[in-house]
Amino acid sequence: MERYEKIGIYKIIGKTVSAVNVSLQCYLLYLVLPISIGLPLQILSFLAAYLAADLINGLVHMIMDSNDDYDSWAGPLIAVFHLHHKTPLYKKNNLLLVYFNESGSKIWLAGYLLIAAILIRATPIHPVLACIIVYIGILSSVAEVSHYCCHVSDSKTEQYLRYLGLLLSKKHHGLHHIADNVNYAFLNGFTDPLLNVVARKYSPGYKNTTDKHYALYIGSGTANR
Ligand SMILES: [Zn+2]
Ligand SMILES: [Zn+2]
Repeated sequence: MERYEKIGIYKIIGKTVSAVNVSLQCYLLYLVLPISIGLPLQILSFLAAYLAADLINGLVHMIMDSNDDYDSWAGPLIAVFHLHHKTPLYKKNNLLLVYFNESGSKIWLAGYLLIAAILIRATPIHPVLACIIVYIGILSSVAEVSHYCCHVSDSKTEQYLRYLGLLLSKKHHGLHHIADNVNYAFLNGFTDPLLNVVARKYSPGYKNTTDKHYALYIGSGTANR
């Protein structure tokens, strides 16, 4: 964790990943927006993407929470990911800035978006599938904003979106921080029943593993899941 704070390159990597992810998301939207699939299929694609993004990001979160490969080149990025369990604090920021900044922790998303662009440009992919793939890519960053709102802000709009089940509920996500190896999803948490089954079978959890590693760390906490 100290390596992350002392070596500026890791902060630059974060900003670069944010820029790559947001640029590719804009490019993909530009590719699929002219495609006409009709309103019912648009709504269905969006709902399917919502569930898939909740599940995929929850799985990545599960893998990262128990990852302790601190000696690798990505070690500082892995270590800093765990700090949110130590201090679940975020700086108050504009939501667009949160969207940009938090997209910087998603290196895997850059690869996903790049493959999506190649698939849509170079293969005869079905238009509905193209829309779902692009929405998953964008909702993966929205998940970061949903998690941020869950910890930081409580406006009337956010409360209403939580009531509709579109954003992560504070009570639901609170269990991830209180208990061990549960509720990894952070877009709206709908896929947590499935993720909890997977976690019980395959993940060692975080309370008795990575959460213990920051006991020696005296720096400030930072935001993540
Ligand atoms: Zn959290
Ligand atoms: Zn976590």
